[in-house]
Amino acid sequence: MQDASDPERADLGEIFRRLIRNTGPISLTQYMGESNARYYDSRDPLGQGGDFVTAPEISQMFGELIGLWLADMWIKGGRDEYVQYVELGPGRGTLAKDALRAAAKYGLRPQVHFVEASGALREVQGKAVPEARWHHDLSTLPMDVPLLFVANEFLDALPVRQLVRTGEGWRERMVGLDESERFVPVAGARPMDAAVPAEWQDATAGTILETCPGAAATVYEVAGRLADQGGAALFVDYGHARLQPGSTLQAVRAHQKVDPFAAPGTADLTALVDFETLARIAQSREVRHIGTAEQGAWLRALGIEARARTLADKAPHYAAEIHEAMKRLVAPDQMGSLFKVMGLASPRWPGGAGFSSD
Ligand code: SAH
Repeated sequence: MQDASDPERADLGEIFRRLIRNTGPISLTQYMGESNARYYDSRDPLGQGGDFVTAPEISQMFGELIGLWLADMWIKGGRDEYVQYVELGPGRGTLAKDALRAAAKYGLRPQVHFVEASGALREVQGKAVPEARWHHDLSTLPMDVPLLFVANEFLDALPVRQLVRTGEGWRERMVGLDESERFVPVAGARPMDAAVPAEWQDATAGTILETCPGAAATVYEVAGRLADQGGAALFVDYGHARLQPGSTLQAVRAHQKVDPFAAPGTADLTALVDFETLARIAQSREVRHIGTAEQGAWLRALGIEARARTLADKAPHYAAEIHEAMKRLVAPDQMGSLFKVMGLASPRWPGGAGFSSD
């Protein structure tokens, strides 16, 4: 792991403590947003030696099958020569590199755009995909060409907002300090009943409702671009297919779950993605929701088993490793069920392999 943390930089925990002492509890959204901005900007957290491993880092097959999916969409959509590839939160650039190599075999050689906030990761991405152009957010992406969006484990890192039912009604869930100056979740002072749907008003005390405004805004923007400009999008993440109550906030460091409130800025904070709500948001912009499939089923439908056999035949010494990697990606008790793939497309772009609603 490259840890470029600046020792001169003030400890984020101290900054939050001072803020809370002076002005009272901060929102969980602020806590998570600033923690992750600090976390990603100071290191490359991916891989065996880092904090967590993602699908493209497990096997090249993941990115390759995404590249094939995009090429198939592009061919069915009329092979627009100006089409561009956009990846949100590309990590080490591994997925993009594998996807673009696979897509090129079908004639798809798009310009590459990366939406990435982290300086440390931009540097790593530049080594994998030197021709990429970087953006801080979606607003600077080209406005007049079809776009092929990919986002793997991006939405789960965006800050969530939580509401909690107390004896006095609904409140925002905030972060305060206990008597030992440790961070603890607390209920905010202001009533939030108006923000909660009618069927949840009388939920039992302690019920939590979680939303992710950043994920909603991202999908709203992507869907708008697809409707106006043409193209398709794949969002892959761990999440529920249906909205459920409860906090899903978790922190991971060195491949272990840790307390999200222990040391802000030093662990990856994530929350499950609510794909049901995101599909509804996409459809509100008149984009085609191709489907939301489990990752295992989707990769199988795209031929991961055949791809694994081909790779194993080419490199017999690695056959067991290749098989093991495939299992990690597709087995229901590993990433196969918890991770979902949501496919979106412009209404003018047909197709969308791997979703059972085909
Ligand atoms: N897609 C990669 C990395 C996942 S980690 C993979 O699958 O391996 C999350 C990625 O999103 C990192 O690249 C991180 O720096 C980026 N990221 C997190 N929050 C972001 C934000 N608000 N804006 C832009 N990028 C963000």
